[in-house]
Amino acid sequence: MIDQNKQNTLIAAAMQARHEAYAPYSHFYVGVALLTKDNEIITGINMENSSYGLSVCAERNAIATAIGKGKRDFQAMAIVSRGGVTPCGACRQVIFDICGNIDIILADEEGKIRDITSTETLLPNAFGNKDLV
Ligand SMILES: [Zn+2]
Repeated sequence: MIDQNKQNTLIAAAMQARHEAYAPYSHFYVGVALLTKDNEIITGINMENSSYGLSVCAERNAIATAIGKGKRDFQAMAIVSRGGVTPCGACRQVIFDICGNIDIILADEEGKIRDITSTETLLPNAFGNKDLV
């Protein structure tokens, strides 16, 4: 578990990123901050599309940005949204595949922690690369 100082820093970064979320249809704005093993913070926002199905979640946007920067090892992710919701099923799979079992901090729009959980708690018995051998 990352310490409280890191939790607060990560939540603040996710709150800041959330201002740029592009959600003109649902108005459900999400900001994510992903903490790498070398203590870099990479953010992401949800980006909706008028065809709805092409919308991309903040969690996967943050992970794609991190991978594009050459990052491969992660410690934690903070997700800020109205009510501090959990990631969707698709994102749980991608978080598991790319980040492994990391801390996942769920905070509401005011930055109040609603839950601190983990990938394995959110996606037990996950399918992964171990199943492909
Ligand atoms: Zn998602």
